[in-house]
Amino acid sequence: MMDTVQKYRDYVITSFTKGVQPIVVEKACGAVITDVSGREYLDCFAGISVVNAGHCNPAVVAAARRQMEKLVHCGSYVYHSPPTADLAEKLAAIMPSRRLQKTFFANCGAEAIEGALKLARLYTGKHELIALQASFHGRTWGALSVTGNAGRKRRGGPYAPGVAFAPAPYCYRAPWADPEECCRRWAQALEEVIRFATADDVAAFIAEPVLGEGGILVPPTNYFKALKPVLDRHNILFIGDEVQTGFGRTGKMFAIEHYGVEPDILVTAKGIADGFPLGAFTTRQEIAAAFQPGDHLSTFGGNPVCCAAALANIEYIEKENLCDQAHQKGEYLRERLTSWQKRFPLIGDVRGKGLMIGLELVRDPALTPAAQEAEAIRAACFDGGVLIGVGGVYGNVLRIQPPLVITRDQLGVVLRVLEQCFQRVTS
Ligand code: PLP
Repeated sequence: MMDTVQKYRDYVITSFTKGVQPIVVEKACGAVITDVSGREYLDCFAGISVVNAGHCNPAVVAAARRQMEKLVHCGSYVYHSPPTADLAEKLAAIMPSRRLQKTFFANCGAEAIEGALKLARLYTGKHELIALQASFHGRTWGALSVTGNAGRKRRGGPYAPGVAFAPAPYCYRAPWADPEECCRRWAQALEEVIRFATADDVAAFIAEPVLGEGGILVPPTNYFKALKPVLDRHNILFIGDEVQTGFGRTGKMFAIEHYGVEPDILVTAKGIADGFPLGAFTTRQEIAAAFQPGDHLSTFGGNPVCCAAALANIEYIEKENLCDQAHQKGEYLRERLTSWQKRFPLIGDVRGKGLMIGLELVRDPALTPAAQEAEAIRAACFDGGVLIGVGGVYGNVLRIQPPLVITRDQLGVVLRVLEQCFQRVTS
C-alpha cells in the first residue's frame, strides 16, 4: 500500500486530494470498494457520480471484454465501427426529445462540453455564451471559461472573453421563499444579463439541470420553463449539461425531464459507460449539420470498447429500472436525513433528486457555511467505512451520490454511520 502511495507522491501529478489519507483501491463491486489491505468501504460517491450501474457491473464488463477481443481502436471518425453506430442509435432513442438524434463522441465531459460550445457558435453564427454562477463544466480552458465558480478557476485566468453569468438557482440562499417568485426573478435576471452584460450576440446558454459541483443545487420545477422564452426571444440555444445528472442519477434517464424543457444540445459523460471513459453531445439534425467535414474530430472519441460498454450499461439501467430505483432510494434517504434536522441544526438544508443528494451544513441561522464541519463529517464517515463527497461553492455541502444499485441494507448502514458521525462532530 505504501508503495503505491509513495509512487503517487514521486511520479503522479496529484492536484486535487487535499491532505486526506488516500485509499489504495484493489477492486470494487456494486457499491463496495475494497482497498489493498482488504478493508471494505460503502461507496456513496460512485467515482464522482459515474458508476450508476455499480462498480464492475458484470453485463458491462462482459460487453467490453467481448469487444476488446475483436477491436480496441480504429479511429471511429476515420472508419466506422458497429458499437459506435449502435450507441448513437440507442442515445437517439432515449433522449428526452425525438428531435435529439445525432451524437458526437468525445472522451470525457469537458471535451464534450468544448465540442457543444463550438457547434453552438458555428450553428448560430454568434459568439458569446451565458452560463450560471456556481456552475461547473470541466477543467479544460473553454469549459472553465463557462464555469461560474471562482474556486475551480483559481490561477488559470484570464479565461475566454464573451462569457456572462446569470444568477444560480440557489433556492436555499435566495431572498425569495416562493419558488415561483424565484423563477420570475431569475428569468428577469437572465434578460438583464443579456441586455447589460453581452453584445446581444449570444450563441448559447449552458446549464446543468441540477448543479452538481456547485452543491447539488436543484432549480424549482418551473425554472427552465421560465428561462426558455427569454432564450427563444434572443435566438439563444440551450445546452443542457447532463454530464453528472444523466443516466438515471436523478430518478429520470435525464434530469431535464423533470423540467419539461427540451435542450438544443444535450451533453453526457460520467454515467454513460459505467466507468469507461466516454463523453458525448447529442443534438438535432440541422444543428449537427453546422459541422462541415474536417470541422471536428477526436482520435479516441467513439472508442468501440467504451461504446460497447455504454450500450450494455444503458440496457442494464433500463432492464433493472434504475431510474425508479434511484427515485425511491433517494426519497427514502432524503426523508430520513430531513428528520435529523431538528436534532442536528448543523444540517441547514437537505436537497436533491433521486440519488443526487446534498446536505448543506451551516453554523447558525445566518447560514454561515460550515466547511470545516463538512470535512470533519467526511473524515468520520471514512473512518466508519463510508465514502461521501464534499462540495458546493462554500465547501459545506455533503454529497451523497452512490451507485444506483446500492441496496436498502447498505443504505441502512450508510444512515447509521452518518448519524454517528453527526453525533460525534456536533457533541
Ligand atoms: N460537467 C459537469 C456538470 C460535471 O460535473 C463535470 C465533472 O465533474 C464535467 C462537466 C467535466 O467532466 P470530466 O471530468 O469528465 O471532464
